[in-house]
Amino acid sequence: MKLMFLGAPGAGKGTQAEIVSEKYSIPAISTGALLREAMANGTELGTLAKKYVDSGSLVPDEVIIGLVKERLAEKDCANGYILDGFPRNVSQAEALDQMGIKLDLVIDIHVSDERIVKRMSGRRVCKDCGRSYHTESSPSKVEGVCDVCNGELLFRKDDDPVVVKHRLEVYHEQTEPLINYYSKKGVLVTVEGQEEKAETTKLTLAEIDKVRNK
Ligand code: ADP
Ligand code: ZN
Repeated sequence: MKLMFLGAPGAGKGTQAEIVSEKYSIPAISTGALLREAMANGTELGTLAKKYVDSGSLVPDEVIIGLVKERLAEKDCANGYILDGFPRNVSQAEALDQMGIKLDLVIDIHVSDERIVKRMSGRRVCKDCGRSYHTESSPSKVEGVCDVCNGELLFRKDDDPVVVKHRLEVYHEQTEPLINYYSKKGVLVTVEGQEEKAETTKLTLAEIDKVRNK
């Protein structure tokens, strides 16, 4: 099963991707998390990506496409995967097509801009493993500490309200056209993002079941 989560920054796609990953034992591949990891490790990729990520712009296509190609070639992707944050514009989607990859389902999690701006202030990310949390909708068991690896939870620099505004603009201009792109391929569903994370998960899993039972 090859899935992709689409949705504005902060719509909750990372959280849903992790839940689906655990349920079906297929990896969730977050390009944002891969970039943050590279930035934290100070690799060449991280150094290159930093100015784009911190300012809320997209990292150049050739960089991100190369990164995804490498990741999808790893063994754990053999039985499927969940893409979170890729593709993020039409040329990245075309690159995926050219790699011969056919997505079974693209789930667009819809949340209004207004609610997104409110939500962003609660986002936290583990500095060691990259797992995302939210102080209200998906808190860690111990405040400020990652459930998975005990790493420290930090506020993302690009979650600053000014940067969030820019990320939303980038989303509407570059990423939203993918709704039409994948609708035309007949693989798109929209899930209305709920206040309760578990409610969004229910809707998401119901859509996945429909595809699995086909
Ligand atoms: P969110 O979905 O909350 O915006 P992500 O963690 O998916 O956050 O992405 C964070 C940042 O990483 C983006 O603002 C962008 O700079 C970069 N990024 C992630 N995925 C891509 C991609 N597919 N193409 C270009 N840049 C990307
Ligand atoms: Zn962690």
